[in-house]
Amino acid sequence: MNRVKIETLDEKVIELEGGILTDLSNELRGNLLKIGDEGYDEARKVWNGLIDKKPALIVRALGPADVISAVNFIREHQLKSSIRAGGHNVSGAAIAEQGLVIDVSRMRSVHVNPEEKTAVVESGALLGDLDHETAPFDLAAPVGVVSQTGVAGLTLHGGVGWLTRKHGLSIDNLKSIEVVTPKGELVRASADNHPDLFWALRGGGGNFGVITAFEFNLHTVKSPVSVIITVYSLDKADSVMTFVRKYMSSAPEELMLIASYGRVPAMPGIAEEDQGRPALILFGCYSGPKEQAEEITSPLQSIVEPIADLSYPAAWKEMQQLLDEDYPDGKLYYWKSIYLDRINDEVLDVLEKHTRSQPSPDTTTDIWFLGGSMGRIPAEATAFFNRQHSYMVGIEANWEDTDDTEANISWARALHSDLEKLPGGGRYLNFPGDLDKRELVLRAAYGDNLERLKKIKAKYDPDNIMPGLLNIS
Ligand SMILES: Cc1cc2nc3c(=O)[nH]c(=O)nc-3n(C[C@H](O)[C@H](O)[C@H](O)COP(=O)(O)OP(=O)(O)OC[C@H]3O[C@@H](n4cnc5c(N)ncnc54)[C@H](O)[C@@H]3O)c2cc1C
Repeated sequence: MNRVKIETLDEKVIELEGGILTDLSNELRGNLLKIGDEGYDEARKVWNGLIDKKPALIVRALGPADVISAVNFIREHQLKSSIRAGGHNVSGAAIAEQGLVIDVSRMRSVHVNPEEKTAVVESGALLGDLDHETAPFDLAAPVGVVSQTGVAGLTLHGGVGWLTRKHGLSIDNLKSIEVVTPKGELVRASADNHPDLFWALRGGGGNFGVITAFEFNLHTVKSPVSVIITVYSLDKADSVMTFVRKYMSSAPEELMLIASYGRVPAMPGIAEEDQGRPALILFGCYSGPKEQAEEITSPLQSIVEPIADLSYPAAWKEMQQLLDEDYPDGKLYYWKSIYLDRINDEVLDVLEKHTRSQPSPDTTTDIWFLGGSMGRIPAEATAFFNRQHSYMVGIEANWEDTDDTEANISWARALHSDLEKLPGGGRYLNFPGDLDKRELVLRAAYGDNLERLKKIKAKYDPDNIMPGLLNIS
């Protein structure tokens, strides 16, 4: 193998001899890729087309033994590294520029135990892999709402989706986590074994090692569930949101709702003259008893006269794929988030103003109605801190042309900055925005849990070889 130039933890560039790389390669069941190798360009690509990084090496792991070899290698040579699972974090943190990527994306097996209602999920699995395996048993794990995204990144930083109000965040449904620690040891962290590590991994992400598998508790979700898709004109947004805010404050926890500010999509069932108009779309899922479905969902479908109501009953697996088409690989994306405590006139004015001026028709600003089970768990129960807020705003700037990049990023930052002045705060690391103001973002994401998290980081990764999405040390 040819020698390779690679960056170290202290930001120097060193050369690794071919023999060292051949030794690493021989240890793997998977393979080792470097610039110029077949498959290298495909393996360095992530979902966000804005990210174009060239790692020096990619270890495409096929199991825990490969991950142990890769971790030992980065520790011995003190290399800059990153961990890649689904490759969907908008920040592109999964790929270390001129470092070594530990890529688990080919480890995608899922084993369901229907009697115990648990699933062991390898860390490269996508949500769709998990949904596919649990669906035959009318079981589901609470994960996110787009089936092509990765289980690992989602879960390690929280995980919100259609079951959050009923069953909590993805991390709230973990029984154990199998992880290769920075020392290269395979550990199963749970409430009884390495409880400090188990606490830290649930929110603290890739700072504590490379996860090889998650064990989830599953819940019964019987199909069909009720899908709500009701498109309202933005002119009516104030009336709609005023109703929804009140309605959701006493709605059953089986009802989850996202109010999405943006444009009327070009979809079958929507008149051509309406397509592209400023809109507020309610996306929801009711997964409770069928007899009550109509009574619970119908008030949201006719708050005022909608442009279109496309609500329908769907199988759970179909529900999980509902939004897949809206997020193609390689398009340009810049996402930020903030939590809100209240939706008042000021919030509604800010949202409406920025929606009208958004540079791209594909952009949405999504208000997630939280609370329920997620909010009942104390903030100190896991490393994930921001549980007390009633709403999360995901600002999703999505566009096609690189010429429009500056306008779209500036727009998202301006909206975020206006929302920062309103009651709420914090940051959701699965929609992280800029990660460069490290201390500020750490504080916004981990709040009072940060000091405890730093202590656990120092215990498990004293040399700080695992950077995570955001380096906690
Ligand atoms: C289209 C789309 C829809 C989304 N919908 C939702 C949603 O409904 N709910 C929600 O909560 N979020 C959602 N997200 C956010 C998404 O969950 C995060 O971007 C998440 O980080 C993606 O996980 P991944 O495995 O694909 O990430 P990657 O980009 O592969 O990894 C992100 C980071 O996670 C860490 N990591 C990944 N794998 C491991 C591992 N095996 N061991 C240790 N650390 C690891 C690393 O620090 C890595 O840098 C969505 C994102 C997209 C793009």
